[in-house]
Amino acid sequence: MPFRFTVLASGSSGNASLLERNEFGVLLDAGLSVRQLDARLNLVGTGWTPIRAALLTHTHSDHWNDQSFTALLQRRVTLYCHPEHVPQLAEASAVFQQLQWAGLVRHYATTGRFCLSPGFECAPVKLRHDSGATFGFRFSAAADETHAAADLAYAADLGTWDDRVAQAFSDVDVLALEFNHDVALQRASGRAARLIERVLGNEGHLSNEQAAALLQETLRLSRSARLRHVVQLHLSRECNRPDLAVQAARAATARVGQSIAVHTASAAVPTATIEVGRPLDELAIGPVPLVARNAEG
Ligand SMILES: [Zn+2]
Ligand SMILES: [Zn+2]
Repeated sequence: MPFRFTVLASGSSGNASLLERNEFGVLLDAGLSVRQLDARLNLVGTGWTPIRAALLTHTHSDHWNDQSFTALLQRRVTLYCHPEHVPQLAEASAVFQQLQWAGLVRHYATTGRFCLSPGFECAPVKLRHDSGATFGFRFSAAADETHAAADLAYAADLGTWDDRVAQAFSDVDVLALEFNHDVALQRASGRAARLIERVLGNEGHLSNEQAAALLQETLRLSRSARLRHVVQLHLSRECNRPDLAVQAARAATARVGQSIAVHTASAAVPTATIEVGRPLDELAIGPVPLVARNAEG
């Protein structure tokens, strides 16, 4: 099985997801208390056992904290962050400094791919958000003897998107994407005007409509009908409703006539685990010669 993906928690109260390929698990952000992280990893049945790395999207406090960094340090889990995250984390967190001293901090670059484990690669995708350097990721799992290659895109916090982002997220099997707010609910929220403008602005968060438009554009750009799952992330508790977010996503996917499941992540409970990567015998391409499999892998 190329990938298993579970959102442990998503929203402004804390973000963490688990992506596994074979025995190698990666935490995407670690913005939960250690008690919540432990509880949710136990709930999904893995505990900490598969976790070998953690990957930080940006430095807002709903995506990391000292408790989760301490858990990484105790278990000698490698933390991947961008070089621009380092000064801020080093100033804010003594535990981050301990991770550095322990040789557990590695850096990813703004562009290019890096290898998490053999056959498991990650390509950072720069996003606009008011946290300095902010990234989404495109993960690729190589084909193995039983399953086709698989790709998963993940973008939790972004204020807007452009062609580069849509291109980076096209032709994936799973798209996990922020559907933060409904614009009308945001405007009627009674929040301070400055906060509303921040959320709606290009450095804030994606509305349901913006996310649906990005989803639709990734489908338009895709050369194959691979997308099977859309996972909606970072819904605002005050300014969105799951039914509105789902409605927006379904309107986008309906136009392409593909069967695409829509999952809505929440702050309260983990999502069901999505198994990503089609078995080769389901691809209706007949037996794959061994030489071709080797070439793919
Ligand atoms: Zn966030
Ligand atoms: Zn953020």
